[in-house]
Amino acid sequence: MNPRVVTFHYTLKDKQGNLIDSSEGSHPLSYLEGVGQIISGLEEEIKHLKTGDKKVISVDADKGYGKKNAELIFDVPKSQFPQDEELTVGMMFQTDEPDTVYTITEIKGESIIVDGNHPLAGVDLVFDVQIINTREATDEEVTHGHVHGEGGHHHHH
Ligand SMILES: [Zn+2]
Repeated sequence: MNPRVVTFHYTLKDKQGNLIDSSEGSHPLSYLEGVGQIISGLEEEIKHLKTGDKKVISVDADKGYGKKNAELIFDVPKSQFPQDEELTVGMMFQTDEPDTVYTITEIKGESIIVDGNHPLAGVDLVFDVQIINTREATDEEVTHGHVHGEGGHHHHH
């Protein structure tokens, strides 16, 4: 028996009830179980659910996007940024390091505070999920490690 492909709708809020993200009104999300396509705290709960189930799932930051890593927060002199660009809080940029996106979190005169943590690091999450469909993954999906077809990756070779 192959692992399942689960398709679900979700609404994500923080613990204070502020809306972060939602799939409602858009396509539901599909993922292959067991390969880490979604955060572990969510997958651990969804694996017990079946089609039609609804559940509110709380995921603490350490099982979500992790705790904030203070070593990824830097104080960078304004002079190191391109001079023709107006810097604003929330602006995101990449450096030479792969896979790290920095966000400007504070501007203190000539001192720019940048944060390379995931925007949801350190945030305790509350997911409201509804399972739309579950099915057994195909052998090809298991080999590729992702979902094909509706709601999955568009195909490639
Ligand atoms: Zn594929």
